[in-house]
Amino acid sequence: MAQRIAESDGLARQIRRLAQHGALPHAAILSGSGDRLGAARFFAAALICRSEGERPCLRCAACRKVLEDIHPDVRLVQEAERKELSVDAVRQLRQDVYIRPNEAQRKVYVFTDCAQLNERDQNVLLKIVEEGPAYAAFLFCADSASALLPTIRSRCVELKLRGEEDAAVSEDALALCRAFASARISPVLQITVSWENRRMKRETLQEVLEQTWQLCARALLLQCGKAADDAPGAEDAAALSRALRRDQLARLTDCLRQYAAECRYNVGPGHVLGALAARWEALLR
Ligand SMILES: [Zn+2]
Repeated sequence: MAQRIAESDGLARQIRRLAQHGALPHAAILSGSGDRLGAARFFAAALICRSEGERPCLRCAACRKVLEDIHPDVRLVQEAERKELSVDAVRQLRQDVYIRPNEAQRKVYVFTDCAQLNERDQNVLLKIVEEGPAYAAFLFCADSASALLPTIRSRCVELKLRGEEDAAVSEDALALCRAFASARISPVLQITVSWENRRMKRETLQEVLEQTWQLCARALLLQCGKAADDAPGAEDAAALSRALRRDQLARLTDCLRQYAAECRYNVGPGHVLGALAARWEALLR
């Protein structure tokens, strides 16, 4: 199952920020061009991730199950054959929502294509969105929010995907990823020194480390058997997954996440880069 997680784009960051503040809405529309279903999975994972740190971590058992579409509390609501959702599907959902989640704190319904929801369905859903149990969450994927009735729209937060071009991974992140894939210290040192010489700004470094961290997380998922994707940076993530042992990759991922987070505080880029290089050296031993 090839799927993309639109991680490196702004939407993923928005979702993580909302999760960090406990502010993820219980109803959201994922609109715009790009991998809406991937974004919905990312959102669902953020809702039920068990990590103490950044959510979704994409590594805990809950996240992994969501990404593989096998989490019992995350349901994709869709009709493969029909153009519209069947009456039965909606009726069943209305009962299902009151059955408490199996293993997560939340229960998430992902409507993969809102074009399948006719007016009658949407009116039923509106009641569920408004009056359903607090643990239930609803994610609506649509080209445009106008696929939904204004009444439903007014209950949802709209999150827009900005398409492929914005999902691009920066050259700096790719270069750092390649340096790690060499499994040697010198290429990593060369890059960090060149960034220091360039006087890379803290915000830029944070962005680059976040993107590199996402590449590492993807490499880790590949090692865990996830099918390769073709999102930007896929080749470098694959090279990294071949070059490093799983424990190295896991520690590198944690380390990048930690230093990306440190950039949020008032820590100089030089300090972050120095610490990162030292950790990398230790990791190679
Ligand atoms: Zn997780």
